[in-house]
Amino acid sequence: MTSDILRIDLHTHSTHSDGVLDPVELVVRAVGRGVGLLALTDHDTTAGCGAAAAACASHGIRFVPGVELSASWRGQAIHVIGLGGADCAALEAHNAELRARRRQRIEEIGARLERRARLPGIRLAQAVMETAAVPTRQHLARAIVAGGFAPDISRAFERFLARGRDGHVPVEWPSLEATLMTLKRSRRTIVLAHPHRYKLSGGALRALVSEFAQLGGDALEVSLPGMSPDAVDRIGRLARASRLAGSAGSDFHDPAVPWNPLGRSLKLAPEIEPLAARFLPAASALTVPAA
Ligand code: AMP
Ligand code: MN
Ligand code: MN
Ligand code: MN
Repeated sequence: MTSDILRIDLHTHSTHSDGVLDPVELVVRAVGRGVGLLALTDHDTTAGCGAAAAACASHGIRFVPGVELSASWRGQAIHVIGLGGADCAALEAHNAELRARRRQRIEEIGARLERRARLPGIRLAQAVMETAAVPTRQHLARAIVAGGFAPDISRAFERFLARGRDGHVPVEWPSLEATLMTLKRSRRTIVLAHPHRYKLSGGALRALVSEFAQLGGDALEVSLPGMSPDAVDRIGRLARASRLAGSAGSDFHDPAVPWNPLGRSLKLAPEIEPLAARFLPAASALTVPAA
């Protein structure tokens, strides 16, 4: 009954942050993949949402404006997605602060790479700063690959940017509490992004999820491409234990990366409330295949 399954994608990026498609290209690709409900969740900006909303309207699919914010929790960077709602001064100020910290970090990384890794780090960082509105390590990794200093993005991270490498610069992002407060003020539905990816012990992850729920979080991302069945199961149990809904998205950045295509069908255990249903009219049936 595949035709009854509504394809959704509640986590995607465009050129307004570190994606490679602009919002219109992203929507066209999503439509081509049969996506009927799409959120654009760029890092630290909602600048692409107007264009994406218009493109979705013209293709007759549903759009949810979104944003993915970096936060710090026990010294670890955590990503929190805000869906729906509206922009407000508090969110705009929060985003502007994150972007300022990002710019400072990219310059520091460039300087460190220049000093320690024998890369033209300052030049690479400058090139990123000139072209990216929200400069991320992903941009720097692409510049490192384009310069011939690493064969691909993941090795650019492994060799130069990951924790313990020459270009690693820790950042203090706003706290989880401040981040959720900002998202509440813009009346957004709040999702903890890719919880399986954080390098946390089982106990620390449980503590994070429970604090997230207490602070008013709504959902966990329980279904992403590349998640092992074991992780789907583990994160699903955490969602149920904290009475959180389940969100699903690809974290799509680049069509050249084959393992996270846009528009995965929902894969949720039957006891988990599908967050996507909150963005659909009550009448539409969301067919959810068992995980
Ligand atoms: P930043 O937010 O500047 O720390 O950059 C992180 C971004 O880089 C993430 O949003 C991902 O898009 C990407 N990223 C992080 N780690 C890796 C990795 N190991 N391999 C490939 N991409 C990564
Ligand atoms: Mn990214
Ligand atoms: Mn993320
Ligand atoms: Mn993302």
